[in-house]
Amino acid sequence: MAKTLYEILLGLASILRVPSRMFARAVRNQDSNLLVLLYHDVTKRQFESHMRFLERYFEFIDLDELVRMIDSGEFPSDLTVAITFDDGLQSFYYNALPIVDEMGVPVANYVTSGIVDSMFYLDKQDDRTMLWKELKSNDRSWTTERSCDDTRKAGLEVMLGITLEELKDVDRNRHITVGAHAVTHSILPELSYEACKREIFESRAHLERMLGHPVRHFAYPYGLHTDREMALVREAGFVSAAAVYDQWISRDSAVFSFPRKGTGPSGSSISWLEYRMGK
Ligand SMILES: [Zn+2]
Repeated sequence: MAKTLYEILLGLASILRVPSRMFARAVRNQDSNLLVLLYHDVTKRQFESHMRFLERYFEFIDLDELVRMIDSGEFPSDLTVAITFDDGLQSFYYNALPIVDEMGVPVANYVTSGIVDSMFYLDKQDDRTMLWKELKSNDRSWTTERSCDDTRKAGLEVMLGITLEELKDVDRNRHITVGAHAVTHSILPELSYEACKREIFESRAHLERMLGHPVRHFAYPYGLHTDREMALVREAGFVSAAAVYDQWISRDSAVFSFPRKGTGPSGSSISWLEYRMGK
């Protein structure tokens, strides 16, 4: 491991008051300088502070460059990061997009095609499973503060899908690559073969109809997949598929199952550095 990288991480440790042994462990564990981060719902302040922090230490790359690196095994010598968002939430449009524009950060935005123009809540069934349930599709008059508050009081998290017009605007942005993330955000390995195939193929067709150009990248809902899903994603014509593992990209990473590290809930600090790295 290059001494310079170790020194950089030690520097981070002191700035963040994170125990340096955590960073030393992270340096030992990672196989490359290449990291992919996964965001869902962000606040403006959170996303900007993360990006400002990252730009001091990392090079940003877009999804196509990331896939090329994984495919070729030509890993960068400097710390490098790709930023990805899942689900297609409206908060991306209002909270992340202005920062993306201002800083010119390349971002991949994987959109669940069925939530465009919709409103959902997350029903946390157990530790592993979160089910998306539609509240009231295509009627944003429901989105009053009061109704959202009532839903939140019931312990449910209201999620707004991006509107079609906002999605088109996002897609026109030169820093952003739009990818697919299934139609209904189902747990793909639990579906029948036919239902699984529909989720993968139709999400691509659905987004391509909305955007008017090929959609080439896919992300598995919850990161969950087996060989069957990988084969179907390939068959559908996608050139890559993103998973979720608490890992940096390594020599073992596959283009159709590459790891992304989660960044914590909306509004969180750069806690991923504290509790994700080195574990
Ligand atoms: Zn998702």
